[in-house]
Amino acid sequence: KYDPLGPDQLLEERSQLMGPSLSVSYDKPLKIVRGKGAYLYDHTGRQYLDCVNNICHVGHANPRVVTAMAKQAAILNTNTRYLHETILTYSDRLLATLPDNLEVIYFVCSGSEANELALRMARNATGREDIITLDWGYHGNTAGLIDISPYKFNRKGGTGRKDHVHIAKLPEAQAAEPIDHYLESVQQGILASIDRCGDGPAAMIAESISGCGGQVVLPDGYLKSAFEMVQRAGGVAIADEVQVGFGRTGKGMWSFVEQGARPDIVTMGKPMGNGHPVAAVATTRRIADAFANGMEYFNSFGGNPVSMATASAVLSEIEDKQLIAHADAVGSYLMDEIRKMSAEYPAIMDVRGRGLFIGVECTGTLGGDIVSFARDRAILLSTDGPHNTVIKIKPPMVFSYADADTLMAVLKDGFAHLSP
Ligand code: PMP
Repeated sequence: KYDPLGPDQLLEERSQLMGPSLSVSYDKPLKIVRGKGAYLYDHTGRQYLDCVNNICHVGHANPRVVTAMAKQAAILNTNTRYLHETILTYSDRLLATLPDNLEVIYFVCSGSEANELALRMARNATGREDIITLDWGYHGNTAGLIDISPYKFNRKGGTGRKDHVHIAKLPEAQAAEPIDHYLESVQQGILASIDRCGDGPAAMIAESISGCGGQVVLPDGYLKSAFEMVQRAGGVAIADEVQVGFGRTGKGMWSFVEQGARPDIVTMGKPMGNGHPVAAVATTRRIADAFANGMEYFNSFGGNPVSMATASAVLSEIEDKQLIAHADAVGSYLMDEIRKMSAEYPAIMDVRGRGLFIGVECTGTLGGDIVSFARDRAILLSTDGPHNTVIKIKPPMVFSYADADTLMAVLKDGFAHLSP
């Protein structure tokens, strides 16, 4: 029924059938019908270079992942109340990539579910409620997570900060202020929570590179110290690796490790199933045991055999194709090229990132203008950050040097045309 319809008709029908708070990319939305590797194809057969989908981590329609998923789906898909070996072999492999103190894993279906569960665990383990969160952070779409996401509650449509939430200033790697200035803000959050309820915070939650905040790389060692402060105050440290995990940043599997941080809980999602909804919470034995207070944790879909087979295939692709080292190499090359280009354009305020997680901060509406320009030239990008001024580059990890050159050619052309 939908096939003969072009983008205009689909958009019209969508506005009748679906909620108006769903957004669509571009003023001229695309109808994408197929994907392969780092490429997407629209209904006319036009090929686009995908520079922004960090979910299809090991490439769109990755054959190994698709085969593993289909094979398991043809045999069995049930919940975790039956015994199955796939969940155990995958848990073993996944935990082997994490620090030794994280020994237990729970499977869920989205980053939001993972963070929601992490908050429940932290509150359960501490008997406390308050949460310290980094400014401009986004941690998920549930009521509880909107409450701890300044990116949502402090922007249009939001209802502001709730009393149990304390915002720590978002540090920037190239910030003029020394790291202590930002740690002081964490200390203030701890004190504010003691003031409020006589106790410290239940947790601090943070990404190692702020995604929605605009690809902001934290200064070296910040997260280690911030987490330690919260832990000393009796709180739990939660590393949100939903965007930056699974090798995205090119330095290792988990980006909190580069920060030297020792979280008690790590949440992961997005790339874990290459688009299949699988996510997880890894934690310590102590926190997991405290969470088992008599109430069952049940998740209808989390950890099912199809999700586990899919996630295993993703992990195998990351390992066998050495995608982490690849992200480091291609990402560094790309960032160098962007930096060289940026010297010519004062309207490019900053180029930052790690691996294939890069941000280009521009003045005014330039970032958005470049994204539209690139779309017309078959390059897919987007903007983010507090004021949508940061061009985000976070392609599937199979993004090649040639793809980086293709992107650069369009960026150079775009800035030459559009930069004030
Ligand atoms: N945490 C971070 C850092 C995210 O970027 C997101 C999604 N953008 C989430 C959590 C929520 O994940 P999901 O959309 O899978 O619920």
